[in-house]
Amino acid sequence: MKHQVSLLCLAIASALAVVPAQAATAARADVVARGNALLTAHGSTFHRASADAFSVRDVIVDRDGTEHVRYDRTFRGMPVIGGDFVVHSRNGRLAGVSQTLLSSERPNARGRISADQAIVEAGAHFGIRFDGVPTARPVIYALDTRPVLAYEVLFNGIKADQTPTEMHYFVDARTGRILNQWDTVQTAACTATAAVGTGRTLMVGNVTLNTVKCGNVYQMRDMTRGNGATHNMAFKTVGMGTLISAPTNVFGNNAMTNMNTVAADAHYGISMTWDYYKNIHGRNGIANNGSGAVSRVHYGRTYANAFWSDGCFCMTFGDGDNGATMNPLVALDVAGHEMSHGVTSRTAALVYSGQSGGLNEATSDIFGTMVEYYANNPSNPPNYVMGEKLYPNNADMSQAIRWMFKPHLDGASPDCYISTIGNLDVHYSSGVANHFFYLLAEGAVVPAGFGAGTWANLTPSSLVCNGNTSLAGIGRTKAQAIWYKALTTYMTSGTNYAGAKTATLNAANALYGSGSPESNAVTAAWAAVGL
Ligand SMILES: [Zn+2]
Repeated sequence: MKHQVSLLCLAIASALAVVPAQAATAARADVVARGNALLTAHGSTFHRASADAFSVRDVIVDRDGTEHVRYDRTFRGMPVIGGDFVVHSRNGRLAGVSQTLLSSERPNARGRISADQAIVEAGAHFGIRFDGVPTARPVIYALDTRPVLAYEVLFNGIKADQTPTEMHYFVDARTGRILNQWDTVQTAACTATAAVGTGRTLMVGNVTLNTVKCGNVYQMRDMTRGNGATHNMAFKTVGMGTLISAPTNVFGNNAMTNMNTVAADAHYGISMTWDYYKNIHGRNGIANNGSGAVSRVHYGRTYANAFWSDGCFCMTFGDGDNGATMNPLVALDVAGHEMSHGVTSRTAALVYSGQSGGLNEATSDIFGTMVEYYANNPSNPPNYVMGEKLYPNNADMSQAIRWMFKPHLDGASPDCYISTIGNLDVHYSSGVANHFFYLLAEGAVVPAGFGAGTWANLTPSSLVCNGNTSLAGIGRTKAQAIWYKALTTYMTSGTNYAGAKTATLNAANALYGSGSPESNAVTAAWAAVGL
């Protein structure tokens, strides 16, 4: 199943690449054949060595018929850095060559230092924390020098100003000296100006997106929200991908055939989450310092999850199985969920295991849901169901990640507190806190859209653990203020369920006075989930 889906994914990507060039394919093959013939006939002009091999990178044919074939070069399978060249020809005759390589001399294929030593040498220059595992590959380095054996070492990381970096170091394999280094994350050489564009999303129709104009292109960077940016991982799992850009200020086509479509969903979801925290809780971004985070989309192949990482200060979204059974994980409540993990890590820092881990997960479900209510987008009606938009043909919401008003609908999360709850996976031990929040906000009321059909068994008495069907809610505005205050002011890394009860009571007392109806409602809602 997974394999099939990943093939589908490949098919889409290659179809996109091939279709516009189809008409030129036959002519291109002829041009390449002529270029190859010239390469064979004039090897010394190109400083050809006997173990050199060549691959075509680009073909250009001028209006007057002049042909230009651009080649990359390897030597004994190793890339020759600086070995690239262009063969220019007219009517099958060599008209010139463009190249930087100086000689047909090649080094001995034995160095004195190992790949690991090269990584250590390069690492001393990298200077910032790196993401993933640095890699090293043997190459022939031949830029402005006699060709020498070297290692190309790659380090990924995030610079202090949040710009991702992919540093390539070229380490001499005999001396360990750094011959050259460059960053393949190229920041714009232009002055970016704020712009307002359109996102043609997968899940919520067309939305307004804050972008920037940079030279001739538009980029998914939001200057109004701390420069939060959305990057395309292009199915990779390492590095930071590339900033999403488009020739016009329109991103996506409401379908998965365009790589920018789900990027538009993610960019929209993060902007709504930013606004939610700012306008509802007075919080200026995840770290409350005005800095936006990076969102990475198209992560891996058929990756059916999304995650927050403190290391890269970034959110990451997989493509699911491209909608066969699961859509890309860029739904609004999921974006709110992931960004809220960042908020938790900057506040209570609830440890992600045991009971505190369940409370950490619940915090993300609670605020992810409140983001959905805040956005109140008719294409994504708000509710207490997590991730309902991730499933195709799901009008009755019988498929979801979690149901907050009745956690056990997932078959694994308990509805009511049990002393062994800390032994469960954090995505199940979260259920009781989700359930508490629902009852605090809404009371023992069956949510709209439930209680009939698939959901006929859902009754007020099935929603509470203590028979208190007259439990009344205090509304979302107060309930979310209490949870946010509890998280940011009273919870600590090891807070457990008993501690969460105390923290929410302290929060209600601080916000509304001790003995207030809101404080009493907190006590009653915990009692209704068995605490
Ligand atoms: Zn989570």
